[in-house]
Amino acid sequence: MSVRRLVPRLAATAVASAVLSTAALTAPATASALPTVPPAAPDLSDIRGYPQQNVLRVWPDNPADASIPIGVIPYDDIAPKLNALQAASRRVSARVAGRSAGGYDLYAVTVTAPESRAEARQQELWKRRIEDEPSRAQRDRALLAGYKTPLFVNANIHGNEWEGTDAALRVIEQLATDTSAETTRLLERNRLVFNITSNPDGRVAGTRPNAAGYDLNRDLTIVSQPETNLIRELIVDTKPIITLDLHGYVNPTLLHPSTPPHNVNNEYDLYIKHGLPNALAIEQGLRELGYAETQRARIPFRDDEPGVWDDFPPIYVPSFAMLQSSIPYTIEAPLNPRGSDLTPAERVRRSGINTDVHEVAIRTSLRYIQEHRAQVLHDQAEVYRRGWAGEPLRELPDGYVPGWGPEDDYRTTFPRAYVIPGGAGQRSEPAAARLVDLLIGSGGRVWRAKKSFTAEGRRYEAGSYVIDLHQPKRGLVNSLLEPGADITDRVDDLYAGPAAWSQGLTWGATVDTLWDELPDVRLERTYDGVAEGYLAPGNGDLRLDLRDAADLLVVNSLLGKGVAVHRLADGSVVVPGTPGNRRLAGAEVRAHGVTFERAPKHWRGIRLDEVVVGYLGTVEERDTLAELGFPARALTASTLGTTLTADVDVLVVAGSVNLANLTPENRAALDAFLARGGGVVGVGTPGAGFSNAAGLLTVTATAGPSLASGVANVVNAGGPVSSGAAEHSFISQPVWFTGLGAGVTVEQSYAADPLLSGWWATEGAGGQSAAADRASIVRGVSAGGNGVVLFGTDPTFRLHPKGLQAQLGRALLWAARQ
Ligand SMILES: [Zn+2]
Repeated sequence: MSVRRLVPRLAATAVASAVLSTAALTAPATASALPTVPPAAPDLSDIRGYPQQNVLRVWPDNPADASIPIGVIPYDDIAPKLNALQAASRRVSARVAGRSAGGYDLYAVTVTAPESRAEARQQELWKRRIEDEPSRAQRDRALLAGYKTPLFVNANIHGNEWEGTDAALRVIEQLATDTSAETTRLLERNRLVFNITSNPDGRVAGTRPNAAGYDLNRDLTIVSQPETNLIRELIVDTKPIITLDLHGYVNPTLLHPSTPPHNVNNEYDLYIKHGLPNALAIEQGLRELGYAETQRARIPFRDDEPGVWDDFPPIYVPSFAMLQSSIPYTIEAPLNPRGSDLTPAERVRRSGINTDVHEVAIRTSLRYIQEHRAQVLHDQAEVYRRGWAGEPLRELPDGYVPGWGPEDDYRTTFPRAYVIPGGAGQRSEPAAARLVDLLIGSGGRVWRAKKSFTAEGRRYEAGSYVIDLHQPKRGLVNSLLEPGADITDRVDDLYAGPAAWSQGLTWGATVDTLWDELPDVRLERTYDGVAEGYLAPGNGDLRLDLRDAADLLVVNSLLGKGVAVHRLADGSVVVPGTPGNRRLAGAEVRAHGVTFERAPKHWRGIRLDEVVVGYLGTVEERDTLAELGFPARALTASTLGTTLTADVDVLVVAGSVNLANLTPENRAALDAFLARGGGVVGVGTPGAGFSNAAGLLTVTATAGPSLASGVANVVNAGGPVSSGAAEHSFISQPVWFTGLGAGVTVEQSYAADPLLSGWWATEGAGGQSAAADRASIVRGVSAGGNGVVLFGTDPTFRLHPKGLQAQLGRALLWAARQ
């Protein structure tokens, strides 16, 4: 079932703790541990022909697989099935393309007519030509005649929406074994790529998220999970004409195109001219299945109000795929087979119909590509051509397709280029490197300047990253870097938010926009973000400013090794420059690219101890704390008595806890923690509520609407939490603080105009106007001596706001010991 809107924090907590218990043995995947998309195209001499067959490891029989009662294929039967299909047909190539968070194999399958090595190289050349030389590709008769148009099927991304996998396997089997001339011809002209189950953890466990607890279909702009890393790789590498993301369960069958708001970076004319007719063809195909339940479909673009089912944030597979010049669909099969009130026969009947529905979507899309082959190839290249040419997005006339109107007009204006400065102009080298890696891994192109240069009045050092937006996937790149827009007045709903995301503003790196000119400097294409870091020479003490999670990781690493780390009043830290410390600091520079400057001459600081964190929250807090390097443990309100032990220094409260409902034992543990001066860092309404109920800080917290999300303008007061922080923050149901008691200090406030981009009602008690100039982060010491920091912004939201993580880390260090 698709969950509308933002999941309330309480519900998210319940889901997450349920998942945690099954995934306790699995270490969370960190972004740095993920394999990256090979950003440089493989050498042609490495291209092999087809088939490329592999005997897949067979998993032990698992009678507890949640697929079994649904009547769909259990996970452990997939590898034997694919092995048999490969043995039976030279049209099928299967490989283990990755590993899920829970440790299962991820299977990528290509179905196509056999190709010699030379033919495969030719296919690769044509695929590159479409992106690299689109005008030439559009006129290339050999390409138009011989290129195998790709279709990509992503199945089962939500683990408890199973049938896409079964439909994929059925189509593969039929194509593998059908000897008709029609199928032979089809496979000579097409490559079908299947991600058989993109969420095996969830398939087996019967859960929507993977074993790490993430909704993978919210992760395509972050790529925090191995499963989404593979999806991204398959889309970028396959360059599919059509992408099908197979889900359940919405009755009647739901399929794209979507309602507005539409992502502002797409060549929407080239998409919807195909997206809508193929949707209508799928609907007709469903009708012809003959089931009473499939006599009509729901096409949000045609049938729903704006905001109900949008393609705005590229967090979803289809909206990400559209920015890759694919024609994407979410297909929501109609019949929920999960309910406990269903008979076994009814479950099987439902999953059978759902499988038929997905099969229709695959076959109809394949047919659409055949029947419009020249046009879809031309239009895919056309997206790239417009990108290279830097042409503005087209304004579409009303009625461009039936139903197209002013409400659908979402278009951005592209700048000429972005610069991610190197050297002194960059606030965080690790943040810059991470952002560059994201852009490149997502199919964007990044260059480095060979020399220093001046652009639009600013001076940049050699090695600065330059992102020329005259590039094929400018829409994708711009969608990640541009600030976004305030869409408050345009819609009053969004499917799942956020309403703005801007990695350019919320990932912690300095990113400059060049509107008019490309820098006049020699550029060299780069395939990797690099953070070289710096260690001040000599034998003086070393200062580390905590601007990024990487800096906190280093602090925690040094503390773990027993190094004396001292926190200064501005929140930065100093390490005495002993030879041993310098050696350790040098190793951290090499590992994480952090910058150790010379410490000020007469520094005064508080010596830190290792900070052990207990958190009431979700996997987002778990993994943010891991990225910051804090030793941390999950707590729940019902286990405080055993888990809130004497070694916990700071409590993070990001999930609701009702103190009045605590058992005496759990309450006693909490009281003991507070009595010994434990610190508290609260996030959002749960954090403020906890502080209030426990009598920690005198503040009044007000929350904005649950739909409000995006990039906020903030003013940093410059204390231990916010000095050096960016002027933009990330909000999801923003909270602000008034009625500050004596001893409560403002670390950061919303600006006079609080919302830069996103959605946030302007007026009313929870509106932007009410939050203007109000505190967004406060700190203080309670009467009992507890250091308390409260965040009204959201530093952990889906692991998205990387640029806010250091603020959370600094808050933890401060709350542990003021
Ligand atoms: Zn779904």
